[in-house]
Amino acid sequence: MIVFGTFNAVAAAAVHLAVGAVLPLVPFVALALLAVGYGMVGAARAGNGSGPRVAPSAPGRDLELRRPEGSVGAPSVPVVPLYRRPNALRRHRDLDPLTDLPGRDCLAATLGRLITEATGQEERLALIAFDIDRMKDINGIHGYALGDQLLRIAARRLEGIARDGVFRLDGDRFVIVRRHVAGIADAEIAAVAALDRIGRPIRLGKATKQEMRPSASVGIALYPDHGSDFEGLMRCAEMAVDDAKRAGGRRCRLFDRGMIVAMQFRKDMERDLQEALEAGELSLHYQPQIDLSTGRIVGVEALMRWTHRERGLIPPTTFIPIAEASGLIKPMGTWLIHEACRTVKSWQTMGLDIAMAINISAAQLRQQNLPEIVAQALAENDLAADRLELELTESLFVDPSELMMRRSLDQLAEMGVGLAIDDFGTGYSSLAYLKRLPVQKIKIDKSFTQGIGREEVDEALVKVIIHLARTFGKRVLAEGVETPDQHRFLVQEGCDAAQGYLFAKPVPFAACTRHLEADAERHAVSTGLHATAG
Ligand code: C2E
Ligand code: CA
Ligand code: CA
Repeated sequence: MIVFGTFNAVAAAAVHLAVGAVLPLVPFVALALLAVGYGMVGAARAGNGSGPRVAPSAPGRDLELRRPEGSVGAPSVPVVPLYRRPNALRRHRDLDPLTDLPGRDCLAATLGRLITEATGQEERLALIAFDIDRMKDINGIHGYALGDQLLRIAARRLEGIARDGVFRLDGDRFVIVRRHVAGIADAEIAAVAALDRIGRPIRLGKATKQEMRPSASVGIALYPDHGSDFEGLMRCAEMAVDDAKRAGGRRCRLFDRGMIVAMQFRKDMERDLQEALEAGELSLHYQPQIDLSTGRIVGVEALMRWTHRERGLIPPTTFIPIAEASGLIKPMGTWLIHEACRTVKSWQTMGLDIAMAINISAAQLRQQNLPEIVAQALAENDLAADRLELELTESLFVDPSELMMRRSLDQLAEMGVGLAIDDFGTGYSSLAYLKRLPVQKIKIDKSFTQGIGREEVDEALVKVIIHLARTFGKRVLAEGVETPDQHRFLVQEGCDAAQGYLFAKPVPFAACTRHLEADAERHAVSTGLHATAG
């Protein structure tokens, strides 16, 4: 898969370091540049479905970007846009006033006619549906006028490439119809070229150099392969769009029958998850975080667990994306924050003073009252704010203008709550956010840690990230440490902290309490405190 428009973190690091002309950093610039050639690998990792926040077992596959755009299937039939009868259409008040494109009724009528014509002639048609990514955020942040302008630009861009007609359905959804489709590849090439075209940069204003790179999620359905009427084909195309969206957007999916099964599975899980939340079937496991200079446990990460009545243990990589998509993540997150604070308090009463890291999803961060929820949980348990650390994935910071999130983050930081960037190195972001955001910690993604001792380039990346963290005055923790060699390497490179199976797996409360007690005991012995404590 190729995720285009990607700006790999390491490439960005190299650019930043190079542009910053910080002379003592030269060896790292070299390292970073060495790593640049590896950039796409890092990016592919992030988007290949193995990342922790990507919907699992997505049945569709990503389609490659094939350039140049001009290669979009030479039509074998005369190029006559289907709806170019503006007078007739206007008379029927069928054109959307914003984009000047025909709407759903016209699409239904056109497709109905095309299907009738195609039947018996063994002609294949493609319905390609587009949904502009993050349209709600764009409207919220830049205002509806700019949102409207973006839709108009998208309409013109699609029109410029669509051979047989573009339609605007509700909101930010567009559809291209394509006749005489030679095969699946033909439809795919057209879809990907359109996606590329939509994604070209847009200047935000005359006076500013600020650019926006819109993107879309695209789904393809074919007649007669996937359906025999407008309604059926549209449902398939929309299912494929949703699949592309769930995988992070900016991609294109061909409808696949597995999507129906996956949709049913998600619906069932969503219902069960709601019940699980109410029935108290969710629990937390805790994984210790180790200070690499002292060997002491300095924190614990809370990881959610769900034991399903029939299916048994369901991994968070399966149920968190479902919770995120359904909005359930908000009540689940609120429960998590309270539960984490209660646990910290329990440990405090046992004389174990430990900070707790919890994972926060984008939807929670966009929830305006997140700082309030956190403040309330802290107050109820009489805890200092620095006993809680929120882990946010790098992908949250793709759009630096997410003002709503920014406000919440600033508020949380002001309260004294810790903030960390999770899965560092897997995102698509520019590193500018490191300078601006009030985060204190970077967590190196386990895919890099696990390359230590195996892949030179992963070692180089880990070094660069540790150095980068130091340059920006952040602490750095490596996750997924499994071997003594990885541990040694991290100590040598001056990494502050680590987490992984080598030290401890995520375990329930009682087992984690034993880890903490044993750690306190060891520390007391090594510092001689033990003798006086009794
Ligand atoms: P994450 O935040 O990156 O969490 C670390 C994951 O790595 C955990 O998987 C942990 O069990 C696993 N891990 C820890 N040490 C090692 C190691 O040495 N080797 C390997 N191979 N794996 C290790 P887990 O518990 O399955 O969680 C997966 C992901 O689900 C988390 O990734 C996080 O993104 C998400 N998640 C878990 N709990 C929550 C939650 O309460 N809220 C939200 N929003 N997301 C959560
Ligand atoms: Ca985490
Ligand atoms: Ca992580």
